[in-house]
Formats: sequence, structure tokens, C-alpha cells
Amino acid sequence: MPSLADPLPQLAWRNRFAALGPSFHTSVSATPLRDVHWVGRNDSLAKGLGLPDHWWQEPAVLQALAGNLVLPGSQPLASVYSGHQFGVWAGQLGDGRALCLGEIDTPMGPQELQLKGAGATPYSRMGDGRAVLRSSIREFLCSEAMHGLGIPTTRALAIVGSPDKVLREELETAAVVTRVAPSFLRFGHFEHFAASGRHEELKQLADFAITHHFPELLATPEGAKRYLAMLGIVMHSTASLMAQWQSVGFCHGVMNTDNMSLLSLTIDYGPFQFLDGFDPAHICNHSDQQGRYAFARQPQVAFWNLYCLGQALLPLIQDQDAVVQVLDGFKTLYPQQLDRRIAAKLGLDEVQASDHGLIDAAFRLLATERTDHTIFWRRLSHAVASYAHTLEVQAFAAVGDLFIEASAWQAWLGLYLERIAQQDLAQAAVRMLRSNPKFVLRNHLGEQAIAQAKIGDFSGVSTLFELLSAPFDEHPGFESFAAFPPDWASTISISCSS
Ligand code: AMP
Ligand code: MG
Repeated sequence: MPSLADPLPQLAWRNRFAALGPSFHTSVSATPLRDVHWVGRNDSLAKGLGLPDHWWQEPAVLQALAGNLVLPGSQPLASVYSGHQFGVWAGQLGDGRALCLGEIDTPMGPQELQLKGAGATPYSRMGDGRAVLRSSIREFLCSEAMHGLGIPTTRALAIVGSPDKVLREELETAAVVTRVAPSFLRFGHFEHFAASGRHEELKQLADFAITHHFPELLATPEGAKRYLAMLGIVMHSTASLMAQWQSVGFCHGVMNTDNMSLLSLTIDYGPFQFLDGFDPAHICNHSDQQGRYAFARQPQVAFWNLYCLGQALLPLIQDQDAVVQVLDGFKTLYPQQLDRRIAAKLGLDEVQASDHGLIDAAFRLLATERTDHTIFWRRLSHAVASYAHTLEVQAFAAVGDLFIEASAWQAWLGLYLERIAQQDLAQAAVRMLRSNPKFVLRNHLGEQAIAQAKIGDFSGVSTLFELLSAPFDEHPGFESFAAFPPDWASTISISCSS
């Protein structure tokens, strides 16, 4: 066992993004925090990154991930981007409270490490560059929850807390999350250079993205076609991401173009929420008065955001009709992707045109009674598993219990039984239990873990972390984490201020 006196594990840093030059970022030093301590650590990610076993034991690592010391070879920088916020051009934004430490080569491929909440940067505008413990725990848990669900996301390696105070609606304490992703490039990075007419830098950025993140495009002839093809890839993966969000009831809450990842990762966890009762009009962001980012609107918003990216790339593509044509692919791709996800949720091999009535009716049922989204799908999966053995309709009793209006449910069940009779039921059940999670990060679960953490008990964070890392497993003994939300859950209000 290496002693604490061992030299700090050396990471082979490089930063290809840094090499782009000063138009794209500014070197920044983190602002130190006092009396830092671990709040959460992601062992499996550390392993995945190939970090040494004794990494967490090094006092210097705690200090480094708090922003109190710079790991040898790392050159922290903040990048500049712009974006549309709530449908309106917001001008220059940038990493106001994120610092990129650099990039390391890992068994998972090259990964960038970022500190979120390590102090002000030139892009902080009026902000303090800090993140509070509450929002850092939410990001740490939710990024692992998304990863556990198989949904592309930035990851979180650790949270470090400090007693230093941060003012939000009330005084809270500071924390820093270490985020990990192959790239933190956002649509807003491209919008930034397009809007300011800096087409040379725009090209440099697009070429950078292609070389490092879409190298398959290097086979496409250089020039407009290549940039158009990149837009096509982003459109495709964004459609897939939206289908995945919608299928698990994930509401992002702030789908501004600066929060849209070029790699279609779920990024910038703020006022997000997993639906409890199913409500297509649900707005999870207290600051979103118009409901622009309501649950059911997310795919349309993604499409709108893709248009912003298309607009930003237009100086390189020079052909508006071609851009519109590529983006129009979203209109067929998204429904196809969603169908794939819904088919799995229902235990079907594929959605046929004639299945849309059954699917629409299911969501109407859920919406009418605000039925718990996660519990409905999980109970349906278990019901099919047991029906596969018994062929007794009684197997669906626990699903029926979720509805007050029994006749509508019975009618739907009749149609469903007819449809799944065409499937291998045992296989359908297996598929459903791998598609319909038992555990999602419900707001009230996060709040409970946060309340505990605020008094120095981080066990709630680690319990939730373990459950959410494997959300399709049963985890006997942890039923309460998969239960209906308590009444007070509906009064939780989450705003952008984090
Ligand atoms: P968000 O909506 O949280 O993704 O943030 C939008 C913009 O505000 C980004 O440029 C962030 O870097 C910046 N920002 C958010 N919170 C803070 C903060 N506390 N201090 C500095 N900048 C912030
Ligand atoms: Mg953001």
C-alpha cells in the first residue's frame, strides 16, 4: 500500500484544445477554498480513467480537485462561447465557473477534466464562479444516473466540499465537481465565432472538432461537404439523445444552446428533474415561466437549437438549402429513435405503424391520471415477466392498481396483450427490465441526500450513487428508493441559481 508520502501520481497531461490559441480560451487560476473535504468520489470512473488505486488517498489530489493546487503538467483554462438563452441571443457567455484542467489519455480514450465551481474566470460576468453543495450533489448523482441508464453524459469524478459560504437565495456552502468528458464543446462555441464574424476561427474550431471528435469525417473531401456532414452527425446523435431523455422521463430544464453538447452528451445539470407523475407539460425549472423547456417540448427545442448550430456553421457550408435539408432529417430520425426506445419499454421488437394507437393511448392514460412514470413502466415489465410464466391476466393487477379509472386501463391492457402475444414473452420481459429502470434520481431523493450532506453525513449521497449506477438492478432492501414520492416532493422548487 503506497504511503501518503508517495509522490503525487503523475498524469500525462496534454491539451489539444489549449493549442487552438488565445481566441478560444484564457488561462485561469482557480480561487482556493478553505478546509476542503471529500463529499463524493466515483471509484468506478477513476478505475475507468486508469487512475492509480492510491489516487484518492493522496492529500494533494483532494487539494487539486478543490482548485487549491495545480497538478504537475496541468494548465487550467476557461473557454469562451456564446449562445441563445430561452430563445434569445445572449451574446458572450463562456466558462464562468468551469476550469478545464487539461486532457489525459485514458483507457476510455482522451478525456478532459474540468473543475466546476473553482472560482471566477474572465467569463463569469456578474457571477462568483462558485457552485453550491446542493447543486454539486445533484450534478454528481445525476451524471452517474444517466450513465447508469446508458444515456450519453458528461461524468463526475468527485465532489469536494468546503465550509466557505456562497450566497444564492440563501447562504450556502461551496463545492467543486470534477467533470469528465471527451469534449466540453457546445453549440455555443460555434455560435460565438459565427456571430462575431470570425470565420477563420470558426473554421479552426470546426476542423479541430472533426480531427479530434469526428475523425471518420476526414474521409469526406475537405470543405463545405465535411462541415455539412458534421452537422448531420450532430443532428443524428442529438435526435438519439432526445429519444433517450424522453423515454426515461428526464427533463433537462435549461436547454439553451450553450448547454447543448457537440457530442450530444447530457451536459450542465441544473434544475433538471426525472418526472414523478407523467405530465407532458411539466416544467422543472422554476425560472422557466413560459414553459419553453417543458418536458414534451424538449425534442422541438433540440431541433431549434440544431438550427442555431446550422446557422453558425453556414459561413463554412455556404449553402442554406443544404443545411436545412440535413437538419430536416431530425423530423424523421427523432420519431424513429423514440419508437426504438418505446418498443423496448413495451417489450416489442419494433414499433409498427399500427402500434402508434397503442403507444399514444398508453401515454394518454399516464397523462390523464398523472401516473408515476417510472413505477408504471417497471411494474409493466414485472407484469410481463410473470405473465410469461402464468399467462394469467392477474399478473397485471399491480399495474392496474396505479389507475383510478379502471375501464380505460382494462381497454388498453386488452390491446397490449393482443400485441405482445406476437412476441416471445420471456425475452420481452428481459428487454423491458433492461429498459425500464427501477431507480431514477427523483427530486425528493436528491433533497434527502443533500439535507444529510449539509450536516456532514455523506452516506445518503453514496447510497444513492450506488443505486443509480445500476438502476435496472433490483437492489433488495432499498425499495423505499423506488417508491412513490412523498407529498412534499411536488413542492420542491429548483431554479437556475446553483
Ligand atoms: P448555465 O445556465 O448554468 O449553464 O450558465 C449560463 C452561463 O452563466 C454560463 O456562461 C455559466 O458559466 C455562467 N454561470 C452560471 N453560474 C455562474 C456563477 N455562479 N458564476 C459565474 N458564472 C456562472
Ligand atoms: Mg451552462
